[in-house]
Amino acid sequence: MSGQAYDSNNIFGKILRGEIPCHRVYEDADTLAFMDVMPQSPGHLLVIPKTPSRNVLDADPAVLSKLMPIVQKLAKAAKDAFEADGITITQFNEPAAGQTVFHLHFHIVPRYEGAALKPHSGQMEDNGVLAANAEKIIGELGA
Ligand code: 5GP
Repeated sequence: MSGQAYDSNNIFGKILRGEIPCHRVYEDADTLAFMDVMPQSPGHLLVIPKTPSRNVLDADPAVLSKLMPIVQKLAKAAKDAFEADGITITQFNEPAAGQTVFHLHFHIVPRYEGAALKPHSGQMEDNGVLAANAEKIIGELGA
């Protein structure tokens, strides 16, 4: 393998093991999705595979093939739940590309015409707001 090895002592590894909390919006046998604590836009969420990998570069294609339909499903749910004009999906690989947490994740970010994004890994959102936003997406998934 050309890149660095996966280190399970990362924040999303801890979330997967239940060692730190998250505002969960979706879970199945292979995938977990939860709110980003420093949202770039209201409703910004993260989708991660349960199988460890640092990023796309070392991910098993079989894991990606299970993950992407969930990314799509949650992008549609977030667009509807937040009445967004569009959705940005981002995914960073290694620090040079902007990655700060080294467990593969996709960002799903609601967008609005003419509205700039807040900074990446910027300001912590209030817990109550994150909880309410998670409920909006959960409600949309159940609709
Ligand atoms: P990256 O730069 O690796 O693509 O993005 C990592 C993301 O994780 C950032 O958007 C950041 O706001 C988010 N993040 C960092 N720490 C935590 C945390 O403890 N919980 C949650 N839910 N998100 C986090």
